[in-house]
Amino acid sequence: MRGTVLHGPRDIRFEGRQTPKIVKPTDAVIRVAVTCVCGSDLWPYRGVAPINEPAPMGHEYCGMVEEVGSAVHSVKPGQFVVGSFATSDNTCPHCQYGYQSSCMQREFMTGAQAPVLRVPHADGTLVPTLGIPPADLLPSLLTISDVLGTGWFAADAAGVKPGSTVAVVGDGAVGLLGVLSAKQKGAGRIIAMSRHEARQKLAREFGATDIVAERGDEGVARIRDLTKGVGADAVLECVGTQESMWQAIRATRPGGGVGYVGVPHGVALDGQQLFFTHVRLHGGPAPVRRYLPELIDLVWSRKIDPGKVFDLTLPLDQVADGYRAMDERRAIKTLLRP
Ligand SMILES: [Zn+2]
Repeated sequence: MRGTVLHGPRDIRFEGRQTPKIVKPTDAVIRVAVTCVCGSDLWPYRGVAPINEPAPMGHEYCGMVEEVGSAVHSVKPGQFVVGSFATSDNTCPHCQYGYQSSCMQREFMTGAQAPVLRVPHADGTLVPTLGIPPADLLPSLLTISDVLGTGWFAADAAGVKPGSTVAVVGDGAVGLLGVLSAKQKGAGRIIAMSRHEARQKLAREFGATDIVAERGDEGVARIRDLTKGVGADAVLECVGTQESMWQAIRATRPGGGVGYVGVPHGVALDGQQLFFTHVRLHGGPAPVRRYLPELIDLVWSRKIDPGKVFDLTLPLDQVADGYRAMDERRAIKTLLRP
């Protein structure tokens, strides 16, 4: 088969790779229905996170089970499944505690931008849908694998409750789906921080009530203005830079929470400054597996339409164009069809 491999900065190739097969008895092999490019794929793509050798890319997936190992019992060939970007046994103490993305047996998925994919720990990682989904649900089901699951965790970790005033830092796909997640969790007011018209529009469709275009000190000042000087109850940090992290912390009221899901790059926090903010921080790689059943149900019953974040769809063999479009911020998120 051919799959997506990163060879170096901005050098994405769709090239011959061995077709994945069952390696361990706990594996499944799935036929990928749709996959996509993640904002986090751009870190190695831009050379910010260096790679040592050619790296198979992609960790967001859903599709049909083709084959399972002898120890797999919860999914079977012919079923349509959605899985997390982090594998989990779903039985260890961390999994039982709801933190499957810190599973003692965790592996980070890779190689999903390909027609066939091996999924380790299939029993604890994959969740089947009720049946074969109609084609128009595929983009939304795909978002659950990472981008929606991550936005959902950001809202959860920030402590969004019915009636909360929420601010979302970051207008990438995760931030936009953080808006959708906050809305689903009953937020009363959702302030999306974005300077881009198309993204502002989508944020409003997903439930944003206010838009703040300013950044940094001015952005924080605008959020204080909008909240009568108090700050937001919950802030979702969906970028991962020093500026965005402090912007999130300073936009939060004392006693409020920041859910941070942007993979930090160069973020350093001053302990004493943090101490006097009185802000709770919780974040990390989203335990998507915890949310899979609930999110699959919300998509299946068409209560949410997170697939709207995909504003570019390409055949998988044009994956390099998909990366370029996201790198240049011409696309919010690229859907790829094998
Ligand atoms: Zn585990």
